[in-house]
Amino acid sequence: MCATCGCSEESGGTRIVMLREDDAPDHPHPHPHPHPHPHEHAQSNDAGETVTIEQKVLAKNNLVAERNRTWLSDRGVAAVNMMSSPGAGKTTLLERTITDVGGRRPVAVIEGDQETRLDADRIRSTGCAVVQVNTGAGCHLDAEMMQDALTALSPVAGSLLMVENVGNLVCPALFDLGERSKVVIISVTEGTDKPLKYPYMFAAADLILINKADLLPYVDFDVDQCARHARSVNPAVRVLTVSATTGEGLPLWYDWLADQR
Ligand code: MG
Repeated sequence: MCATCGCSEESGGTRIVMLREDDAPDHPHPHPHPHPHPHEHAQSNDAGETVTIEQKVLAKNNLVAERNRTWLSDRGVAAVNMMSSPGAGKTTLLERTITDVGGRRPVAVIEGDQETRLDADRIRSTGCAVVQVNTGAGCHLDAEMMQDALTALSPVAGSLLMVENVGNLVCPALFDLGERSKVVIISVTEGTDKPLKYPYMFAAADLILINKADLLPYVDFDVDQCARHARSVNPAVRVLTVSATTGEGLPLWYDWLADQR
């Protein structure tokens, strides 16, 4: 859990930026890390104390998440939390999804990354409302960040709110944001055994997307085996194979999204 890396105790570096239409794109530049080794080990050497801190952090998070859930429900906004390792294709899938379904339903995006607003700039260029959350040393979005992002974004009633979490298959699974559903994306350039190695993430998923299907002829990835592994930790989970590049399988993804209301 997150206390293992200690990032939940280091929320001081969080920045939330609402992108405006006339904003110039971000120019990435290295930021000095606020702490020399933020992802070392838990602050406490005492196992009992560490567990207590974890429980308090998650209990506080769950309270705020419930507030977010009520806020979203009152406005008829359906939030979908997109989680994956870095490079699975979350942002590309979002760009394509916004372009394909944005005409049918208002879409807004919350972008989570440790640094830069590169992904938010990409989403902004589709014409979609977007807010960037930079987590600094943190390796996941939490409910408070979501709350602040909702205030900045103010998604219109009835909209679909896509949340791109920080690329990480561990901590984001444990932090409820108040979303309606969780989607886990794995790409075929990753290992077939990812669901077994990161069971908490795959167990939390309402839907699993196996992305980059267009690369299957070039990589050693067994789609059926991956789906079996996913169902071994989450028996009822739906698994779709898609390519955000060629559009393969996306109509089923859009049908699933249409049901998220
Ligand atoms: Mg991204």
